[in-house]
Amino acid sequence: MPDFLSPELQSLRERATRLATEVLVPLRDDRTLDDAQRATRIREASRQAGLYSLTQSDATPALNLLVAREALAAHGVGHLAGVFGSDPGVLAGVTGPLRSTHLEPLLAGTKRAGFAFTEPKDAPRPTWARVDGDWLEITGRKSYVTGGDHASFLAALVEIDGEGPSMVIIDTDLPGVSRERRFGSLDGSHHVAFAFDRVRVPRHHAIGAPGDGRGRALAKISAVRRAVAADCVGSSAWILSIVADDLQRERRNGQKAASERLRLRYGELRVLAYAARATVYRTARLHDAGQDAVNESIAAKAFASETANRIADAAIQLVGGEALVIGHPLEAVFRRLRSLRLAEGETDTLYVNLARGHLDLGKGRL
Ligand SMILES: Cc1cc2nc3c(=O)[nH]c(=O)nc-3n(C[C@H](O)[C@H](O)[C@H](O)COP(=O)(O)OP(=O)(O)OC[C@H]3O[C@@H](n4cnc5c(N)ncnc54)[C@H](O)[C@@H]3O)c2cc1C
Repeated sequence: MPDFLSPELQSLRERATRLATEVLVPLRDDRTLDDAQRATRIREASRQAGLYSLTQSDATPALNLLVAREALAAHGVGHLAGVFGSDPGVLAGVTGPLRSTHLEPLLAGTKRAGFAFTEPKDAPRPTWARVDGDWLEITGRKSYVTGGDHASFLAALVEIDGEGPSMVIIDTDLPGVSRERRFGSLDGSHHVAFAFDRVRVPRHHAIGAPGDGRGRALAKISAVRRAVAADCVGSSAWILSIVADDLQRERRNGQKAASERLRLRYGELRVLAYAARATVYRTARLHDAGQDAVNESIAAKAFASETANRIADAAIQLVGGEALVIGHPLEAVFRRLRSLRLAEGETDTLYVNLARGHLDLGKGRL
């Protein structure tokens, strides 16, 4: 497909495709490995291929990340644990003590982070902190922290009294931090609901200038939304290749691919995938050109995730009952993609945010 990629990006795509087909697909399908063994092998292979650290540097262009993520997802392996190193998230660019105590161990893989943004519905007040000299005393709850069981620290959105929202680093082994509930979701990922009871953290654990926490959190969320969109367009291509194989498979009573009805459905799905890809590539290029792409990242995430879900659902109809057998690639990708219509921004909420961006703030383009 001509995507007007530079030779460097074409070679990145080829490297990611080779890693996917030659190493990651066999590792994904190897039932003799447990999750930890699989992740270790994947990490080593991804490091050797030069992909692992792409997510760890602020300097990696959005287009490079998109090309790598899409190529991996187009073979059903982009989501596997160990493919990419922990990204700095809201710790990106921090100086001072947090750099050595949290950022460097995070990038080295000796500490793990959780992102604590979502509040429980019944919270009387969003998670907040009282300033006590050089300390913050944090009280509240967060309801949906992915990977929270193994997180050594949380990057949490906290309302600091008199200052406004801030991203605050909270170590999970501090007195007053408790894991209230552990749960899994449909897509196979695991989460924790946390409670904070007057947890004391040093003042310098609040990142950035007072009150810019929401902005920092949203910058990280924007990058994650582009990552979700890349996963969705790659996964859509993977699903379409599974459907094409099924339609073209030899059958005793003739190929399904000869049916006009099935061709029409399949063609429609390709149109959708094409449009989503174009949206996601344009967004990455806008971001890399230094443009404000917050609203476009919202559009890309909403459209690519809705489209991928539509494609996955329709693909199951086209392939038939076999596609719903537990362990079939389509049932697995269907479950995984379903969560992406909610995670990192529920679609209707994103539509409302986009409208606000345009109507109230004059942001966003068509
Ligand atoms: C797999 C997965 C991983 C996640 N990981 C994390 C994580 O690591 N960290 C984290 O902080 N969160 C995480 N989340 C939480 C996720 O960000 C939220 O679930 C998502 O943002 C939606 O918020 P909500 O669940 O509170 O639903 P709501 O915001 O309540 O949305 C539910 C419905 O209500 C509607 N709605 C909401 N508000 C209004 C309103 N005022 N008026 C009318 N309608 C409204 C929405 O449009 C939607 O239809 C994760 C979620 C999933 C599924």
